[in-house]
Amino acid sequence: MMAKQLNQRQAQWSLYLPHFDFVLQHRPGKSMGKPDALSHRSNHGTGADDNSDVILLTPKLFAVRVLEGLEFTGPEQDILRDIRQGTKQPKEEPVARAAQELRKSSTRSLRSAEWSERDGLLYYRGCIYVPNTSDLHRRIVSLCHDTKVAGHLGCFKTLELVSRSYWWPNMSWYIGMYVSHCDLCLRTKIQHRLTSGELQPLPIPDERWDAISVDFISELPESGGYDSIMW
Ligand SMILES: [Zn+2]
Repeated sequence: MMAKQLNQRQAQWSLYLPHFDFVLQHRPGKSMGKPDALSHRSNHGTGADDNSDVILLTPKLFAVRVLEGLEFTGPEQDILRDIRQGTKQPKEEPVARAAQELRKSSTRSLRSAEWSERDGLLYYRGCIYVPNTSDLHRRIVSLCHDTKVAGHLGCFKTLELVSRSYWWPNMSWYIGMYVSHCDLCLRTKIQHRLTSGELQPLPIPDERWDAISVDFISELPESGGYDSIMW
């Protein structure tokens, strides 16, 4: 949310609206013909350049995002400490080593701008790079998925939460595997898919050669120029 320069009319509304307990709800323009026409009255002035730096919709009008409070407290402090230690060992850390060489190289390529270093942490596109040491990947995903405040969200929401602060190669795959194998989720979450029906066997033919069915087993390792079997 950004502070805007309000004209006089907007400033007038910003003083008037706090008297009400309201929720903003979007309605498509075509269903708002009359109010829209009224808002275009020619005697509405545009105002001078006063009322600057005013926030029309204050943060208290919006739902608080509780999970943002998770950042850098308690266990996350330990994680940050281990990330610092992990990134300092470039021998075991090919990604950190490559990134550091990229940043040191005299030919500044476009990619080198994506990496930066602050407080002993390596950043990729503004997110902390997490080395594959000290079980860090699992600890971070666990923090963003298993804790009570995280609430065992699904793959995409967990990924969104982790990617607010962290990055490592194949992160989305790792989080997908983690969430899909979470014991508590598997035992307690409701399956929204239709239950798979029973197998429908083919009707039994009345006589021989009445019906012929074949199965193909394909994409086998090639043998003598062939990779499929007709059964
Ligand atoms: Zn879970």
